[in-house]
Amino acid sequence: MKGGIGLSRKTDMEKLIKDSEFLRKAIPDDILLILSRLEAAGIGAYIVGGAVRDILMGNTPEDFDIAAETEPSTLTSVFSDRKTVDVGIRFGTLTVDTGKRLTEITCCRRESSYPDIRHPDSVEYTMDIVADLARRDFTVNAVAMDCRGKIYDPFGGIRDIEQRILRAVGEPSARFKEDALRILRGIRFSSTLGFRIESGTKSAIHCCRPLLTCVSEERMFCELCKLLCGDNVRDVLTEYSDEICTLIPELRPTIGFCQNNPHHIYTVYDHIALSVSLCKKDVVLRLAMLFHDIAKPAAYSTDNEGIGHFKGHPHLSAVMAGNILKRLKADGDTVKKVCFLVEHHDIRPSATRKSLHKYLRKVGFRGAYDLLYIRRADLGAQSPDFHYLFEYLDESERIIKDLEKEGACISLDTLAVNGRDLINMGFERGPDIGRALDMLLSAVVREEAENRRDVLLRKAEKIKKSFNDSFIS
Ligand code: ATP
Ligand code: MG
Repeated sequence: MKGGIGLSRKTDMEKLIKDSEFLRKAIPDDILLILSRLEAAGIGAYIVGGAVRDILMGNTPEDFDIAAETEPSTLTSVFSDRKTVDVGIRFGTLTVDTGKRLTEITCCRRESSYPDIRHPDSVEYTMDIVADLARRDFTVNAVAMDCRGKIYDPFGGIRDIEQRILRAVGEPSARFKEDALRILRGIRFSSTLGFRIESGTKSAIHCCRPLLTCVSEERMFCELCKLLCGDNVRDVLTEYSDEICTLIPELRPTIGFCQNNPHHIYTVYDHIALSVSLCKKDVVLRLAMLFHDIAKPAAYSTDNEGIGHFKGHPHLSAVMAGNILKRLKADGDTVKKVCFLVEHHDIRPSATRKSLHKYLRKVGFRGAYDLLYIRRADLGAQSPDFHYLFEYLDESERIIKDLEKEGACISLDTLAVNGRDLINMGFERGPDIGRALDMLLSAVVREEAENRRDVLLRKAEKIKKSFNDSFIS
């Protein structure tokens, strides 16, 4: 969703919904063509869901969902000459390639009973957009707009957008019992849109919380990722900690856990919530932030002065993060990246070339830049008495950038000599080659030797001699 017109006052919204010409202009041409084609076939067609919400909020939507008052077979025939994907047609959804984007068109439907709180047991099509809007989760997502820019708002969604409120369509707990994922969707929208959840809907969220255990891990993880990237994430993590802990029970011991350490003014959970909000909006980084201190309660000890310490918590947190992410069916790449960042989040090399060069050998340039985001967010969520350390992170970043610009060697790939060179100079094939290359790289990384072929070959001679000597003795 990109920035757009922007509505500041209530009267703006009233004017806007009456100004159908203005709203029609907010519909991109390819979407307009789809709506018009459906209408030409005698089918009522509407933009629904997030796109209408975004337009009314003055933002440019990224994707458009369309609802059509028809049945799947008719829908397919209207687009028989177009590139389509029909994997969802069993549930009344056809994906059409507009040339600009893939757009989902769904036949208007009402859903009957939900035997397993996840999947409607049958799909009943309806020729009535209002009935279709009634099955949607929140009033702000239950507004429709046709190709003329005419708005359909049977549940007061526009008023709720204006007042920035999330309210379930219909009786909240009945709706959460139908599909418990809506609990997390509500919290997610509160985080991304910055809307407050209306009190009846909020109570139902709390009451229906145990039903979350019926929702598939994949669906929950998808919502969690979006939630973590919202502007309002700190408030949501704080206000809905019980729901978050139903999804991730391992976080529960961090709630209210006092750190007894001069670096900290927040409990572990509150520190985590603040640090997530301070970190760059990137799923991997924010997941790493969520998990970076999860093992602190387990790693806690106090010294003679009663000061709290958390020895080994980065490694333990990384192990826990890996287990949680695998349970939530996160993809392997995400698991790997998050665990890496959690494992390394607390390494604090001094801001010198030598020490950062060594650090880069361990974490790489990409890792170092990601860890700078993590470490800044971590520091920002600690006691302000230590915020002067930001300067040291700035200095570290400058040095890392210099090293990158210089093409500093941080791995065997860019070392000026390789295994073949060592064999040519008489090293025996086998583990000695690896050991010698490692010693050469260490010398370069510690800035004791230049990464130059002649320099390293000379050094390699010495290493070979030391290997031979140790073999003889
Ligand atoms: P986003 O900006 O994240 O795409 P969105 O509102 O478009 O937000 P989607 O997940 O794309 O959200 O869903 C599109 C629409 O489908 C929603 O606006 C809502 O009307 C409806 N919807 C989606 N999931 C559910 C659900 N679990 N229960 C009821 N309605 C739902
Ligand atoms: Mg959407």
